[in-house]
Amino acid sequence: MRTLVIGGGITGSILARKLAENGVEVRIIEEHSSPGFPVQCAGLVSRKCYELLGKPAEKSLENRVRGAVAFSPSGRSFEVSSEDFLGYVIERKTLDPELFRRAVNSGAVPMLKSYFAGLKNGRAVVKTQDGVKCLDFDLIAGCDGPGGKTGVVFGFEKPEMIFSGLQIECRYRVEHVDQVEIFLGENASPDFFGYAIPIDGETARVGVVTKEMALHRLRRMIERHPAMKNRVMRAYTEANAGAIPVGLVDPFVNGRALLVGDSAGQVKPYTGGGIYYGAVASEMAGDAIIEYEKTGNIKALNRYSVDFRKEFEKEIRVGMKIVKLYSILNDNDYETIFDIASRYSISDVIAEGDMDRPSTIISAGMKAVSMMKNPKHALFFAKLLSKMMLS
Ligand SMILES: Cc1cc2nc3c(=O)[nH]c(=O)nc-3n(C[C@H](O)[C@H](O)[C@H](O)COP(=O)(O)OP(=O)(O)OC[C@H]3O[C@@H](n4cnc5c(N)ncnc54)[C@H](O)[C@@H]3O)c2cc1C
Repeated sequence: MRTLVIGGGITGSILARKLAENGVEVRIIEEHSSPGFPVQCAGLVSRKCYELLGKPAEKSLENRVRGAVAFSPSGRSFEVSSEDFLGYVIERKTLDPELFRRAVNSGAVPMLKSYFAGLKNGRAVVKTQDGVKCLDFDLIAGCDGPGGKTGVVFGFEKPEMIFSGLQIECRYRVEHVDQVEIFLGENASPDFFGYAIPIDGETARVGVVTKEMALHRLRRMIERHPAMKNRVMRAYTEANAGAIPVGLVDPFVNGRALLVGDSAGQVKPYTGGGIYYGAVASEMAGDAIIEYEKTGNIKALNRYSVDFRKEFEKEIRVGMKIVKLYSILNDNDYETIFDIASRYSISDVIAEGDMDRPSTIISAGMKAVSMMKNPKHALFFAKLLSKMMLS
């Protein structure tokens, strides 16, 4: 069965490798000369995700973090940490080419500097350096990122929301090299958050995720957020921007086409992180395609949809509620949250949440609320949670 994988990013390479290893005829079509470039990622993943990515992740490892500290609009902090390393910072410029190479070494046919442009008489039109090629295929997998061409050509819906991520890699006054920083409020992002992810003791990726005016927001955070001011020390060495799709595309399997990763909105809505869900989705899509190859029954592809939904649909639904809450909360709300949180020892309870599963973070939050002795405090959070669940 001739399968075209469009996009040589993380999802495309994992999928192509799996298919090639199982004897499926597969081509991997990537528009750039090197996968993973231009970078559109801060590279923070959970330990589970890091382990799933295997050797390529080890080769691209930059740093490990034990937890996170969130800063309120006025600069108050709330810390969640663990003895273990909870997060791993990886470099996409290294990771993506490694994954791509593995796919090719397994037998996937690479087409670099090749752009999937659409369909003509049922064949895939690919613009290459040597001119336009028309390729026959039985199946096409769109691993071509947010707003990818495959989704457009095959009439898939778009994710519910698109955010912009903008970050710089810069010299930074890193306070704790094993701690990710989150910046909240109007002077970071009014509808999401800002972040600083340390790479080493003096360098970090500093960025914002927002619906609009990302450059303005990033500048403002660097200059005005009380917890960030005067910490970006020098001109940046790298700037990256990209779209972050929020909301699962439904359906993401349609006839001879399927979408995987960002193109399908398989992203944790409340952080914008898509590497873990995308990597798992690629494995699941691979299993379904291999079954289709064996049985000749195209319905086998639905297994991918069933498996992914079983694993992540609830998490994406809960994550959507959290992301909507960001827009509802104003600076005063954040200050009240931090003020109440500071009166209780709830960090350890919150740390029980799994960053890949927002439902566990909500459960941990509810447990923390149940520990609040002052009924006014518990009521404030109960109202907040119900507002979120009703949004
Ligand atoms: C600023 C920013 C920071 C982020 N930080 C994190 C983070 O810390 N952790 C995390 O988990 N996620 C993060 N993400 C999200 C993460 O980068 C994505 O979820 C992930 O890259 C999705 O992988 P993918 O393979 O689906 O798509 P992509 O990585 O976007 O890969 C798609 C590939 O397809 C190629 N392509 C596109 N169209 C065509 C075409 N028509 N023909 C041929 N090739 C094509 C592209 O060149 C690209 O190589 C961040 C995103 C942004 C924007």
